[in-house]
Amino acid sequence: NERTYIMIKPDGVQRGLVAEIIARFARKGFTLRAMKMMNVTKEHAEKHYADLSSKPFFGGLVSYMCSGPVVAMVWEGKDVVKTGRKIIGATNPAASEPGTIRGDFCIEVGRNVIHGSDAVESANHEIGLWFPEGVCE
Ligand code: ATP
Ligand code: MG
Repeated sequence: NERTYIMIKPDGVQRGLVAEIIARFARKGFTLRAMKMMNVTKEHAEKHYADLSSKPFFGGLVSYMCSGPVVAMVWEGKDVVKTGRKIIGATNPAASEPGTIRGDFCIEVGRNVIHGSDAVESANHEIGLWFPEGVCE
């Protein structure tokens, strides 16, 4: 069954959005397979967003991800990668539709509450990076 890596970013945790976000994925019908709250090192954040290392906002993105604990999760279900991205909404909250997580809960691209893997291959890579101890069956 397909799995994706979903992460509530430091602003989402600090603003008390953890339960709301879990509820949205659960009510849709997806299954939670792993979850932990953790602090992120600079090195780990850089690895997670390695594809963006040449972007001008990379340094700011890494310090944002290290600004407080995140909640790391693995969700499972049919088409969960693509549907998870729909539930999350567009990267820039100025363009995210109301009804999506980013559309409902944020206004700045640099503080956009949540991460979701963008493809099945990146999901598998990210699950390995964030859950080297493995995930529930
Ligand atoms: P994520 O990977 O976090 O789920 P995404 O796949 O929607 O987001 P990416 O292009 O992978 O978008 O960008 C990763 C993150 O980098 C964004 O979620 C956002 O926090 C940050 N980011 C992207 N573009 C900008 C920008 N122009 N200025 C500041 N931060 C940005
Ligand atoms: Mg991305």
